[in-house]
Amino acid sequence: MPAAFIGHGNPMNALEDNRYTRAWRTFGTSVPRPRAILVISAHWYINATAVTAMPRPRTIHDFYGFPPELFAVGYPAPGLPELAAEVSEVAKPAWVGADIDSWGIDHGTWSVLVHAFPDASIPVVQLSINADKGIDYHLDLGKKLAPLRERGVLIIGSGNVVHNLRGMNWNLADGGFDWAQRFDEDARAQMTQSPADVARLDAHRDFRHAVPTPDHFIPLLYLAGLADAAGHATDVMVNGYAYGSLSMTSYTLGHTSPQAEDQATGANPPTPGEAPPDASNI
Ligand code: ZN
Repeated sequence: MPAAFIGHGNPMNALEDNRYTRAWRTFGTSVPRPRAILVISAHWYINATAVTAMPRPRTIHDFYGFPPELFAVGYPAPGLPELAAEVSEVAKPAWVGADIDSWGIDHGTWSVLVHAFPDASIPVVQLSINADKGIDYHLDLGKKLAPLRERGVLIIGSGNVVHNLRGMNWNLADGGFDWAQRFDEDARAQMTQSPADVARLDAHRDFRHAVPTPDHFIPLLYLAGLADAAGHATDVMVNGYAYGSLSMTSYTLGHTSPQAEDQATGANPPTPGEAPPDASNI
């Protein structure tokens, strides 16, 4: 089964039709139908490694300052409680807790899946990001998840390689600041040549600006770990920038999406001001 990292960006992408959402849609329609989707989302960033294990995970609207239409989005995919045990087994000796009543499906997950798998019929399970652990732990845990790919599990990391909310400029709908481009391009060089080395980007001169908090970067490490386990590099699904300080670059492993004409290059028409300037937690 292929695996992917998706740059999810603004939650409003859930409601939009743009070259990113079209790339996610193309990815969803071109992969073999998975038994389950395991998502490592930037937005489940807690002090433990846990996996959702409820039969009917709720849709979580974990943001504020966005229009009511976004709060009305639901993603009623079932869970798959037995996958929690499988994750916990492959992760050993790392301990993985089974969450039956805390989390569900957050917007890092559903804003992508409403496009990639719109009928919400495939079970969805989330793996938390343990905030107490360093880069190597996450790279290694990603590597350990590799056997699940052989069991029909589609693993998706959802974050953004460059994610600096304080630096956002709503007038730069499709723009990237110089430092954002430098970091994203260097990450791209690693992911397409030697993915495990992406962990060394913590020494990059732009790391402090590109990754002011680790939550959106860490999901990339899971795909890098899977790529390391597979012994080959990843491919760019789609790339670009949003609001100056977000990278929208997405990667696939073991799969090249048939590209729509506008996916790899070109830009969206600028749509400044579509989200309120106080929108947060994206
Ligand atoms: Zn986010």
